[in-house]
Amino acid sequence: MVDSERSDLDPVAPLTDLGAFRENGYALVDWIADYLATLGPRPVCEPVKPGDVRAQLPGTAPERPEPFSEVLTDLDDVIVPALAHWQHPGWFAYFPAMSSPASALGEFAAAGLGVQGMLWSSSPAVTELENHVLDWLVDLMGLPESWRTTSKGGGLLTSGASSSTLIAMINAREMCRSLTGAPVEQMVAYVSSQAHSSVEKGARLAGLRHVRLLDVDDDFALEPEALIEAVSQDLNRGLSPATVVSALGTTGTTAVDPVRGVGEIATQRGMWHHVDAAYAGSAMICEEFRHHLDGIELVDSYTFNPHKWFATNIDCSVLWVADRGPLIDVMSIDPPYLRNDASDSGQVIDYRNWDISLARPFRALKLWFVIRSLGAEGLRANIRRHTQWASEFSERIDSHPRLRRIAPTPFALVSFEHTAGTAATCALASAINDTGRFFVTVSEIDGHQYIRVSIGSTWTTRHHIDSLWQFIDESAMTVEQPKE
Ligand code: PLP
Repeated sequence: MVDSERSDLDPVAPLTDLGAFRENGYALVDWIADYLATLGPRPVCEPVKPGDVRAQLPGTAPERPEPFSEVLTDLDDVIVPALAHWQHPGWFAYFPAMSSPASALGEFAAAGLGVQGMLWSSSPAVTELENHVLDWLVDLMGLPESWRTTSKGGGLLTSGASSSTLIAMINAREMCRSLTGAPVEQMVAYVSSQAHSSVEKGARLAGLRHVRLLDVDDDFALEPEALIEAVSQDLNRGLSPATVVSALGTTGTTAVDPVRGVGEIATQRGMWHHVDAAYAGSAMICEEFRHHLDGIELVDSYTFNPHKWFATNIDCSVLWVADRGPLIDVMSIDPPYLRNDASDSGQVIDYRNWDISLARPFRALKLWFVIRSLGAEGLRANIRRHTQWASEFSERIDSHPRLRRIAPTPFALVSFEHTAGTAATCALASAINDTGRFFVTVSEIDGHQYIRVSIGSTWTTRHHIDSLWQFIDESAMTVEQPKE
């Protein structure tokens, strides 16, 4: 019986038609594999004008069930031609949103199971797998053992670093309130001028009106002296320093703030110290990057995004706290309809008391699929190939007569400009993107624009890096240079 005949009999029949699910599911897996296998020849960013997509969609939702084959056809004809293909091998923009087949299958399995983990008892494996995988990561990434849920700290999965940082800022506010009794209007958050905007947003959402953007050094890392100076000025004004955030890999140039230097000041002043390692945190799986963790024992909370550079599709961010006690105090609320014996026993973790949302997806499943399918070895090799290519790319920039790096390359982001100035830099970036084969982004520091080549797509190979370089090498010599 075909879909349309079934739905003639009973309009809710498609909800429970497992025969159709099997058939359509196999077709969808084939569709995804074909999409990924044929990404290369597509333009990285499809040419789309505002309203193009909606103009192809019917004005009203379908009254009758539609065959899945027609949905797939529209996926091909309407949706895919209007995407920026983040998984394209020529994707060098922003930071990667690195996905993988294992992760997609984990996401699919989680959707199929359709469970949610607001409480341990609402689906025990959802909570325990999350505890367990994040404890694995503590070990794999050389983080303090006390952060494991089997010890004093613990980790949870959130929708992104913005949410993770917001939770950290709420904790910072409450710690400051209990230490100083200061009203929130007097509390201050400190971040470097290069911190991601989510840090300022998180502090403001937590109610902190004063956010100080501190000076950075020549490598764009926060200067502890600037922090000391700002804290002392605020104390003189009668304000209460509440929190400082160190960036381990800024968005602009992947600069690394001195975690130990900042941590010592935070400890001395009773400030909550949060580390934003949203992008570069993934690299900590390789021992050679762990010098950036110096001082990590002085940190109160730490976030990194597997959905950037850890082969795990969006959304998936980790937040660890060094001490889960204050977090649970701040985030707990106990309505009678959520009470149960397991929670009352005190033997289980109820993530609703760690997180903002009550209903929680089974994010740990895709992370578990990824870690098991690649192994720590595969995850390390992935980071190492990208950082190796970035290092080679940097050397090519350094030896080019018309190009100049504007910052070091500690991970897999190369930041550079054209020596002829901003107009030439922007013209070069446009030329790169106009090929349709590559996509880079331009950013700005102190009014100065530069190109970011961020290496980290699952499907990028050395061949794609070489092609990008060949294009840049030639274009940098001939790029049109409008008057500055
Ligand atoms: N922090 C840093 C350093 C980032 O680069 C980003 C995003 O690129 C974020 C935070 C925000 O992450 P999310 O989009 O997961 O909220």
